[in-house]
Amino acid sequence: MVEILFQPVHQLTELLRRKELSSEELVRAALERIRARDGEIHAFNCVLEEEALATARQVDQLRARGEILPPFAGVPIALKDNLCMAGTRTTCSSRMLENFVSPYDATVVAKIKAAMLPILGKTNLDEFAMGSSTENSAFGPTRNPHDVTRIPGGSSGGSAAAVAAGMAPWALGSDTGGSIRQPAALCGVCGMKPTYGRVSRYGLVAFASSLDQIGPFTRDARDMAALLGIIAGHDPRDSTSINQPVPDYARELSGDVSGMKLGIPKEYFVEGNHPEVEAAVRAAIATMEQLGAEVREISLPHTSYATPAYYIICTAEASSNLARYDGVVYSHRTREPVADIVEMFRKSRTEGFGDEVKRRIMLGTYVLSAGFYDAYYLTASRVRTLLCRDFEAAFKEVDLVVCPTSPIPAFKLGEKTADPLEMYLCDVYTTSLNLAGLPGMSIPCGKTREGLPIGVQIIGGVLREGEILRLADAYLG
Ligand code: GLN
Repeated sequence: MVEILFQPVHQLTELLRRKELSSEELVRAALERIRARDGEIHAFNCVLEEEALATARQVDQLRARGEILPPFAGVPIALKDNLCMAGTRTTCSSRMLENFVSPYDATVVAKIKAAMLPILGKTNLDEFAMGSSTENSAFGPTRNPHDVTRIPGGSSGGSAAAVAAGMAPWALGSDTGGSIRQPAALCGVCGMKPTYGRVSRYGLVAFASSLDQIGPFTRDARDMAALLGIIAGHDPRDSTSINQPVPDYARELSGDVSGMKLGIPKEYFVEGNHPEVEAAVRAAIATMEQLGAEVREISLPHTSYATPAYYIICTAEASSNLARYDGVVYSHRTREPVADIVEMFRKSRTEGFGDEVKRRIMLGTYVLSAGFYDAYYLTASRVRTLLCRDFEAAFKEVDLVVCPTSPIPAFKLGEKTADPLEMYLCDVYTTSLNLAGLPGMSIPCGKTREGLPIGVQIIGGVLREGEILRLADAYLG
């Protein structure tokens, strides 16, 4: 049964359709795998055994009756624990929301339920999605299934590890500066950040609202096309969602990439890349060329400013978004005696937030404060415009951009926790897409000699997810 859990969803779906496998059997196998592996890996904050089995049984009964079901009905999924699901806890891996039970479903969760995918549980993350290693979780780190002494990437490390360890066939995460693509790369699975606005963020706990986007983790491009199709679409509840029809992404998977123009940004192949990462990404590009794509070098000249600009903009937005956690309505409230409400706020926030979240609230408050706003926030916003222009110019010349997802493979737990700047530098190749609102996908392209996965990132223009998927599918074969 374990092998089944490593099959892509489109194959599982066939087994379900042919009634060679029931959804209940599949969900039980996943739960069994979670029981066997998750003590060590800690991908899940909570497992929703009863709920998942109930959906599975319902799908099996409807199928037995010959009812027409949504195409992927009965294939279980895992959700990052910053997505609201009615009646379950949404902790964001923070003490602040440890006991918060969502009163409603996020739009993506409602769509997952309508697609009849049993929800296995909520996955671990860096607190409020702030981090690149899942070590900032208040409930303990997630470990990389390929080497449990190493981090899975972050912040959606739980979702990436769950898929990589065969505990879930696919999963959802969120990506503000790389939090889907980087853990996908480090765990050897596929992960996509769609175009800003392609997927509704209603019910995603906000970190940095102009950057946040929800996206899938899968084993291959076909599954990615399927899950993106399920979650994408306009939503009147998210004013930033794009009002454009959702294409049938599966139709893009023609396998034909001949004549597709790929740009290789020279700024992404610089000193600091791990040599084995660089070699694997270059080999992947060579394979894409053999498949018929045309490869040329391009320049994205402002790349080196992306990460500094990102850490100004995301902290500024976070300081505002996280102001709501004051211990009054639903977040953690101190039990200590307090003299007045200000002390209550202060104590509750001091107890509820972890160090990284506090650091970002302070940085964000600083960059927005009078006298510093122009020097930091405004400058970062201008850099953001320059990054957008870099990509606009590139996409006049090429169809897609191909580069590493992360400069390094998974590092050891604890290796970078003492130096936040070193951790931030892991995001050099992912943050610019969020700043420009562009879609990007990380796909596996080999392993290091030590057996650590390496990811190659494919970047597209606005709403060009289809072309990204076509190249990914052709490459993955
Ligand atoms: N690693 C980045 C950060 O720490 C990205 C996080 C994310 O995409 N949620 O902010």
